[in-house]
Amino acid sequence: MNAKKTNGGVRTDVVVIGGGATGCGLAWDLALRGIDVALIERGELASGTTGRFHGLLHSGARYVVTDPVTAEECYQESVVLRRIAKGPVEETDGLFVFGDGDDAGYLEQWRVGCRRAGIPIAEIPMREARLREPALAPCITKAFVVPDAVCNSFALCASLGRSAQSQGAQLFTYHRCNGIDMKDHRVTGVNLTDVRTGTSRKINCKIVVIAAGPWSARIAKAAGVELSLDLVRGAMIAFKGSAVKGPVSRLQPPGDGDIILPRGRVSIAGTTSVVTNDPDDRRVDNWELDLVKTQIDAFVIGVAGAQMAHSWAGVRSLYRGRSQEREASNTNFRSTDPHSWSRDFAVLDHESRDGVSGLVSIVGGKLTSFRLMAERTADVVCRSLGNSEHCRTAITGLI
Ligand SMILES: Cc1cc2nc3c(=O)[nH]c(=O)nc-3n(C[C@H](O)[C@H](O)[C@H](O)COP(=O)(O)OP(=O)(O)OC[C@H]3O[C@@H](n4cnc5c(N)ncnc54)[C@H](O)[C@@H]3O)c2cc1C
Repeated sequence: MNAKKTNGGVRTDVVVIGGGATGCGLAWDLALRGIDVALIERGELASGTTGRFHGLLHSGARYVVTDPVTAEECYQESVVLRRIAKGPVEETDGLFVFGDGDDAGYLEQWRVGCRRAGIPIAEIPMREARLREPALAPCITKAFVVPDAVCNSFALCASLGRSAQSQGAQLFTYHRCNGIDMKDHRVTGVNLTDVRTGTSRKINCKIVVIAAGPWSARIAKAAGVELSLDLVRGAMIAFKGSAVKGPVSRLQPPGDGDIILPRGRVSIAGTTSVVTNDPDDRRVDNWELDLVKTQIDAFVIGVAGAQMAHSWAGVRSLYRGRSQEREASNTNFRSTDPHSWSRDFAVLDHESRDGVSGLVSIVGGKLTSFRLMAERTADVVCRSLGNSEHCRTAITGLI
């Protein structure tokens, strides 16, 4: 059943705030379970972090040593997404490369981590690796094929939006959520502005889910709820030409400028990790461009001299997940290096957490894990609405 128009505006069961991969995935999941849902996005779908990401559908190999829970989830989700999102996902596979001077101890930990996470990797002879990726630098001595892939996040969100609408979801793009209405600590709806016309409207609902990536804390605050998210900006550069045929990652602990991948007629290199307090931070500083070029050029030659087509930045919102909460409670210390901060995600039910009933947030995660994030959130929403339908997004192809 669709969201319905009433005299006062629109009425629905669930409002999802945020039209990135997570919010679109959630609208799709809820609609498939027969729930009335409206998605609110202040811009176009994928106009937030999702449209500014690097483009890698992670096999999980990048995180096996530092963030094994995320690694395992990424691998499982990448397998599902290759099946259900055939249009947006390009099945390239990828290479992890190891060179002179790299840490042999880390290489061993990485092999063990991949095995534990169930991620299939295969070392190939360097001759074969250089045929595959002719621009590999001479210092590279080992290469491993991993099931990485490339994902077009705009096509993905368009597909999720279409699929959600086909099941009755309502999409309100170019609508900004200004606040969450509440009565007696219970959510009653949201108020919105159509940013193109300036018109205000209300949607009455039983549950609001905040899926607004790095903007989530601001929206939650308006409902009197504190979310502590770490915002970390990252810069990307698109170089003209095809420097690589598939994603190539440096086999080292996650750091700056260690992944390059092909997207159409450009190659995208990234990224950096700069702590910020502004979800709209779009800066790309010169030192970031220089660092990414130098780091990538050390394993894929010619990048530093290639013509730059474009550069941009996006803001990650990282949640102090299960692994780092444990780390913090054990040692009272958290690494100051944002590369090592967890990519874990969490569904926060603000009724049990903060005494606000009908409010849920989904925080942290990766684009690669968006479907699982949506599934876990939809489970919480369904329990609250007394809906016993199971998730079907892992077995339903996107349209
Ligand atoms: C530099 C960088 C590189 C990355 N690379 C990768 C990668 O290669 N692979 C990978 O898997 N992940 C990657 N990620 C992580 C990934 O991009 C994010 O985890 C994911 O895109 C987050 O999606 P989201 O839907 O949760 O948030 P977002 O995409 O940010 O969506 C939130 C939406 O909420 C909307 N919004 C905000 N406020 C309001 C409001 N008041 N009213 C209505 N709408 C509102 C915003 O416009 C936005 O569209 C990268 C992230 C960064 C920053």
